[in-house]
Parts: sequence; C-alpha cells; structure tokens
Amino acid sequence: MIIFKKQKDLHGYLSKQVGDIGFVPTMGALHQGHIELIAEARSQSTIVVCSIFVNPTQFNDPKDFAKYPVTLEKDIDMLEQAGTDVLFLPSVSELYPNGTSLLESYELGAIEKVLEGEFRPGHFQGVCQVMNRLLTAVAPQKLFMGQKDFQQCLVIARLLQLGQFPTTLITCATIRETDGLAMSSRNRRLNEEERKNALGISKALQFARDTMGRLSLEEIKMKAREILEQHKFRIDYIEFADSTNLDLVKEWDNQQSIVMLIAAFQGEVRLIDNRVLNPI
Ligand code: AMP
Repeated sequence: MIIFKKQKDLHGYLSKQVGDIGFVPTMGALHQGHIELIAEARSQSTIVVCSIFVNPTQFNDPKDFAKYPVTLEKDIDMLEQAGTDVLFLPSVSELYPNGTSLLESYELGAIEKVLEGEFRPGHFQGVCQVMNRLLTAVAPQKLFMGQKDFQQCLVIARLLQLGQFPTTLITCATIRETDGLAMSSRNRRLNEEERKNALGISKALQFARDTMGRLSLEEIKMKAREILEQHKFRIDYIEFADSTNLDLVKEWDNQQSIVMLIAAFQGEVRLIDNRVLNPI
C-alpha cells in the first residue's frame, strides 16, 4: 500500500494507473464495517483507494471532534491486510488551504433539514465540503459507503449530481457486532455498562421489524422509546421515513419502503443506527 499526504502526489500516481478506481472515504479508527467496504471495493475495482481524514467542518460539537478516536498504525495494518492499494492521508491545511471558516455551501434541499440535519446543524454541509475535495482528488469511478449512515448516502448521491461527478455510489449493508450493535468508531468510547446498554438501539430496530404491519408506526415508536429509555439512552430522534428521499412518514401505506432511524446518546457518546423495515 502506498501512502500519499499531498493531492498532487496522489493525482500524479493515480493518473498513471490503468483501470477503475474504487474509493472508500473514512475518518479512521477502523473496524470491520470499514473493512467490508474495502473488500467490496476490492471485488469491484482495479485500484482501491481509502482515505483517512477526521474532517473538522462536519463536527458541530467541538468536544466530539476533540474526542474522535485515532488509531492510525492499526488502521494502516488493517488496510494493508484488506488489500488496499492507496491510502490518502491529507492534513487539514492540505484539504482546506484557505482555512475552514469561509467555505462554499451546497443546495441540499429538504434532506438537510431533518434527522441528522436537524440535530447537527451544518453537519451535511461539512460532509459535502470534504467529499467534494476528496472526490476531486481521487476521481473514482465507484464510491463505497455504508448504509449505517443512511442519510449521508442520500446527501452524497445529491452531491454527485450537483457536482456532476462521473462516480457511481455503492451503498453497503451495515456490519454489526454478533449481539447486533452496529459497528462504529465511537463504540470504543463506551465503558462496559454503556456498551451493554448500547444494545437498546438494535433491539428497538428489531422490535420495529418484527411488529411492522401489525402495530401502527406510532405504537412502534412508543415501544422503541421505552426500550431506549430502559437502556439509559437520551434520545435525539426516533423516526420513520421514506427510504428513497427521507420524507418523514407518520402512517405506513403498506406500499412505501420505510426506514426507521434512531439517534441517541449513551453517556456522552452519540450513536446512530437504522433499518429498512420492508425491503422492496
Ligand atoms: P466513518 O469513518 O465513520 O466516517 O465511516 C466511513 C464509512 O464507513 C462511511 O461510509 C460509513 O457509513 C461506513 N461505515 C461505518 N460504520 C459502518 C458499519 N457498521 N457497517 C458498514 N459501513 C459502515
């Protein structure tokens, strides 16, 4: 695996390669969920590029940014073992040479106003700012992202359209621990008790999946709230939405593909997860 810190060097190298580039952007502190994205990219591309960059502009909470886990040496080992060809490891000043205060904004429409957009103001603008730079630097044919960040995938699909990038987004299934907890870099900030309680989210989603069609969405939401509270979660949101555009849904029409999305704090750690309830 070759590591580049400068866009110029990355570009020089990639422009000499032949074949499809598959790209997996990450913020590091890698786990099996990231590695599955690399494996998918490996199986669908000639050159696999991963980036590690903890993007300051997408953190609305400076404490969350300061505490974001960093495990670079281990990440490099994992990426090498997974068959990554190139790791792009830019600094903040490399991606934002004019600083991070006066940056461009993106017309994301309604999708930016709900769920993560509502609870983390500016978050998706930050995601687009960094992804625009990374996509320009890597110029991949295929981009691999996780369904774990469901709303982010729709935002990136919009960014690809807005920027007319010739890149196909491939959304990969959420990888879970054996007990059901969605893998996340933030999980390592949980203490033993919080780690046990963290299961409340996947239990609530499983309950919804099991009772979908038998209970109303309102009843499912009430029970999900109860499960989360029993597991000592402080809830940001529990919502149902149309899985194609994230319009919030209050009543299911038996047709629509619905995704249930949850964001909640376990102690100081904010976790998100989702499940599509009626795959079509
Ligand atoms: P992050 O490093 O958290 O920004 O995540 C980088 C990429 O990995 C994003 O596309 C995430 O959606 C994806 N990802 C994170 N956790 C998981 C998971 N448990 N399963 C699948 N993909 C994931």
